[in-house]
Amino acid sequence: MLNNDGKPKKIVIVGGGTAGWMAANLLASRWKNTEICLVESEQIGIIGVGEGSTPHLKLFFDAIGVTDSQWMPHCNATYKNGITFDKWSNIKGFESYFHPFAAQTDDMLTVPLFFKNIQAKMQGYDVNAHPDSYFLETYLSKNNLGPLPAESFPFGIAYGYHFDSALLGKFLTEHAQNLGVKKIVSTVSDVLVHNDGNLKAVKLSDQTLLEADFFLDCSGFNSLLMQKTLKVNYQSFKDNLFNDSAVVMPSEISSILPVETKATALTNGWAWQIPLQNRFGNGYVYSSDYINADQAETELRDHLGLLDSDVEARHLKMKVGRVEKHWHKNCLAVGLSQGFIEPLEATAIALSFNTVSQFMLHYQEGKGTNKFESAFNQDINSRFDGIRDYVVCHYKANQRLDTDYWRDNAKNSNISETLSRILYLWTNSQNFADDMIKYKLMGSYQPKSWACMLAGYGVFPQTNTNQTIDYTAHHQEMAGLGDFIRRCGLNFNAHNSLLTP
Ligand SMILES: Cc1cc2nc3c(=O)[nH]c(=O)nc-3n(C[C@H](O)[C@H](O)[C@H](O)COP(=O)(O)OP(=O)(O)OC[C@H]3O[C@@H](n4cnc5c(N)ncnc54)[C@H](O)[C@@H]3O)c2cc1C
Repeated sequence: MLNNDGKPKKIVIVGGGTAGWMAANLLASRWKNTEICLVESEQIGIIGVGEGSTPHLKLFFDAIGVTDSQWMPHCNATYKNGITFDKWSNIKGFESYFHPFAAQTDDMLTVPLFFKNIQAKMQGYDVNAHPDSYFLETYLSKNNLGPLPAESFPFGIAYGYHFDSALLGKFLTEHAQNLGVKKIVSTVSDVLVHNDGNLKAVKLSDQTLLEADFFLDCSGFNSLLMQKTLKVNYQSFKDNLFNDSAVVMPSEISSILPVETKATALTNGWAWQIPLQNRFGNGYVYSSDYINADQAETELRDHLGLLDSDVEARHLKMKVGRVEKHWHKNCLAVGLSQGFIEPLEATAIALSFNTVSQFMLHYQEGKGTNKFESAFNQDINSRFDGIRDYVVCHYKANQRLDTDYWRDNAKNSNISETLSRILYLWTNSQNFADDMIKYKLMGSYQPKSWACMLAGYGVFPQTNTNQTIDYTAHHQEMAGLGDFIRRCGLNFNAHNSLLTP
């Protein structure tokens, strides 16, 4: 049943992880006449990892009217300018690169010059085409400066966060409850379905029936409503993303807090390092086809200098892929229940935010009907697939090739047609950015991001174009660029100083 405003009278959300509570906040802050009830199970608990975000987390907090200073201190949160990819390439000078989020300064000067020098490099000219020289957020990160500019600096820059996922869950729970969301602690033991295939109610372990007009499946990898009950198909990404496991452990935080996530390639996967105010969160994401859990734990301890430490490790399994329909009948899947692309680009929260906000728009547009269900599902699928392609490209383009894992990733031919075409353009196009737009290859990542990755790993196939280069002009341009970025940087403060309560 619908309210007079065309929204469901009652929504039940199954699952109280980050996805469930984000959804509860978004719904409660916009659909004020809808009764919202969230069930979470103490026995099952939450996954309790996922501590880095893209700028979408800021969009989420903006949408529910919460400022950085209102939530960050409660979640030991820090700012994030981007990600350093370390040791993914053995090519001299390209052992590490930084992938920044977007800044308005990019389009003015830095991105065009970056692309110009990539073309020159591909012709064999000895020019600087390493992404680290080109972007303001890279400069901020290298100098431990936070992403909040002085009032007088007229250009916007996007930023993400690092946070304690358990504390974020607690903050979001309290905020949603203040907006009127009812929390029930119980385990769903059964799901009842109407004859027409719509969901009718969830049955709790004490036999209580919770009926609703619309349901959100936020039950994590369980996917209790969408996959188990409604039998929506699941597409595994295992063929092109090999990693299926992770081992996680904390380490002591440094006195100067980095403004970036670090993703270091190890023998059979990669390790994240995420700075929180009170600890580093670390994890090794690997493929169990190549290394077992004990070996992975030892390698992570060694990498962190914790071989002799008794700090506890947590081992996790990951299911990588997505459902074919995120909205089906009267149910929306959000979070791990709808799918997961491994955490290399920390995109899960962004996908949850996009799923709920796009669903609300499509549902309203369809006046409470399923008219826009298929357009919505197509949209969310293309977001998942666009991110998957970008993440797959990290593995495909790796320049380590020192273990079977890295060699098999580089050889892997199970890549999407879109990714093949992007890689073809990288090698063959003389105007990569424009051609990506021309051939409709723009997905979840801008040409700048693709170029950062491929140039960052030192992938410069030699091409034949007629460009000639004036080295004096090149050096002058690079000096001007460096000066521009340095002077922009004068408008930013030390990261640590932004976090003092
Ligand atoms: C190794 C790893 C690293 C990650 N890193 C990142 C990252 O850096 N950035 C990022 O954005 N994301 C990351 N993620 C993803 C992130 O952890 C999740 O997207 C996020 O935590 C949301 O999870 P969720 O709410 O969907 O599921 P969960 O946290 O698993 O919550 C599921 C909820 O459903 C409840 N539930 C399940 N079954 C029942 C039932 N029968 N009855 C009642 N309740 C039930 C559970 O009790 C729980 O409350 C990572 C994931 C992994 C595995």
